[in-house]
Amino acid sequence: MSDPTRSNGTKIVAVVNQKGGVGKTTTTINLAAAMVAEGRRVLIIDLDPQGNASTGLGIDATARELTTYELILDDVALDDVIQKTSTDNLFIVPATVDLSSADIELMANEKRSFLLHDALRQPLMDGYQFDYILIDCPPSLNLLTVNAMVAAHSVLVPLQSEFFALEGLSQLMLTIREVRQTANPDLRIEGVVLTMFDARNNLSQQVETDARDNLGDIVFDTKIPRNVRVSEAPSFAQSVLEYDPTSKGAQAYRSLAREVIEKNQKTAV
Ligand code: ADP
Ligand code: MG
Repeated sequence: MSDPTRSNGTKIVAVVNQKGGVGKTTTTINLAAAMVAEGRRVLIIDLDPQGNASTGLGIDATARELTTYELILDDVALDDVIQKTSTDNLFIVPATVDLSSADIELMANEKRSFLLHDALRQPLMDGYQFDYILIDCPPSLNLLTVNAMVAAHSVLVPLQSEFFALEGLSQLMLTIREVRQTANPDLRIEGVVLTMFDARNNLSQQVETDARDNLGDIVFDTKIPRNVRVSEAPSFAQSVLEYDPTSKGAQAYRSLAREVIEKNQKTAV
């Protein structure tokens, strides 16, 4: 194994972009479901107080007594926070609005940046044999997101194919550099994925050209098209792979999953 921080075979990927509404949660849910379709075991950590990933996977508000908040701040064991979803081999640690106070509570904690890192490295984790853990981050570069970047092996950035898409990316890259310098020297960039791509729209194509010119290889070949089935799926508590397996959106997320998995098979010698 080339990455010494990977003590068991689990790859931890933080899905990050400090802008809201760019497709972080949608990508987390559907990439996870597509990885499962490729035979992997996947855990989602909902790290956004809005809890959209939890809702989108059908975790009822009443079933969210033990959440990411308790995992990070109350040292609760993984067994008590990990929940099954309706998809076999897809699990989630849900979140509620309680997590919004975590950012401030973390400030007072000496290990504030390392709490999620340590929580995910409980010895219990080995027993679960997850292939991937995807962390759905809040729309901010706050301490929660820093916790995700410290806990993760890599960062995956959804980039909305819209005006001003690349704006804010330099701030994100600076934060990644800071995390590397202070807490997680091996943090990599998994890749940038264009979301809500509309081939008929010149703007989408311009964003793609700019992204590929400026960011090069780290931009995934797969683009996620704007597709109504993708936006409908969460209200049925399903991934788009379950909701409409033949839709353009489901096909795109399967293609993204294959790209990510293939990339990791190449690097993990
Ligand atoms: P974030 O987590 O970054 O805030 P979301 O994943 O919640 O973003 O997406 C924002 C909105 O865009 C949601 O309403 C979602 O349903 C919609 N959306 C995301 N991706 C697509 C897509 N490929 N096609 C159509 N709608 C999408
Ligand atoms: Mg979200």
